[in-house]
Amino acid sequence: MERLAVQAFDAGARTFRPALLHLEGDRCLGVEPRAQGESEYYLTPGLIDSHAHVYPGATDLGIHADRIGLSTGVHLVVDAGSAGSANFPCLRDYVLPTCQVEVRAFLNISRIGLITKQPYYDRRNLDLQAAVRCLREDGGSLLLGVKVLSSGLIVEDAGMEPIRMALEAGQALGRPVMAHLVEGPPSNTETMALLRGGDIITHIFHGAPNLAANQRAGAGPNPKYCGLANVMWNPDGTPTPPLEAALTRGVLLDVGHGAASLDQAVARAAIGAGVREFSISTDAHIRNVDTVVHSLPHTMSKFLALGMSLAEVTASVTVIPARQLGLSGWCGDLARRATLLRVRPKAPEDPPFLDAYGAEIPAAQVIEPAAVVQEGRLATLSAL
Ligand SMILES: [Zn+2]
Repeated sequence: MERLAVQAFDAGARTFRPALLHLEGDRCLGVEPRAQGESEYYLTPGLIDSHAHVYPGATDLGIHADRIGLSTGVHLVVDAGSAGSANFPCLRDYVLPTCQVEVRAFLNISRIGLITKQPYYDRRNLDLQAAVRCLREDGGSLLLGVKVLSSGLIVEDAGMEPIRMALEAGQALGRPVMAHLVEGPPSNTETMALLRGGDIITHIFHGAPNLAANQRAGAGPNPKYCGLANVMWNPDGTPTPPLEAALTRGVLLDVGHGAASLDQAVARAAIGAGVREFSISTDAHIRNVDTVVHSLPHTMSKFLALGMSLAEVTASVTVIPARQLGLSGWCGDLARRATLLRVRPKAPEDPPFLDAYGAEIPAAQVIEPAAVVQEGRLATLSAL
């Protein structure tokens, strides 16, 4: 029997504690706490990427879930609204069976999901009954809730109709709504006012209309953001009154990094102000996975650089998303399901850490997946 010294994540206390991982070949026999000890390995519950787009072929931006799955240390990928009621059966029956990584999904309130980036262009695709029927038939086995995109470039003149309908569908079944909020109209203020406890705002650190990133890039203010009252955070990183009110009602927060939704100035200020209760997710899709987002550990490394501790970053991809998504027991036995991470100094040949506006995030360290534990078996991703 071998023993691997690790720092094991205590999900209750959200901290790492010294431990020994007992192994027999690739079988994990148990995790034994110990009083003290150093290790370069961090054993965490299976990582959750709570916002990505993994419906390839049939949607505008989908990638195969395994590209951002177990090979990157991720045990669960959540598809955020790629499918609507009309094309969810194809995702369920033909796409997900090809994935090794576990996938769950939020159902787009549009029947056609993200076949194009204009899911609400034809209002006839906003079909409340079809969405409710689809969610009811699924019975929570794959579908976690309802997704709605509520930003100006996507909703166009559908305005508040998609979000109102998504909330109605969520309410009918007692499921959360994940609301994509970026540029208005509708303004973030208007949208946040509708969200209920348990609903999730994604893209919380978007830069619209915080114009700092555009100005840094020398592009000047982006006209699409001008004059729109959609600020979630004060310049000092504290929540604005509409966000504060939403948080008080129990509304939850998700990063959804993506190609246009992580302004490092906004994130750094909020983290500096003590904001920690959010999930970190990639919003990985075809147009950002190779350039900006790369993987969940790459995205986690950015948040380490933005001022969070490793334990806080770990909580944001394990215990926090598990609670948001209602996955009780996710952070249980680390000898059954876990990710082994390593933190190493950033090397010159590593890809730069970019925010969604192309500005580099200065960083000294890189979080890397070293192994995954699945069904009690350890699979190494690099030499231990
Ligand atoms: Zn997305």
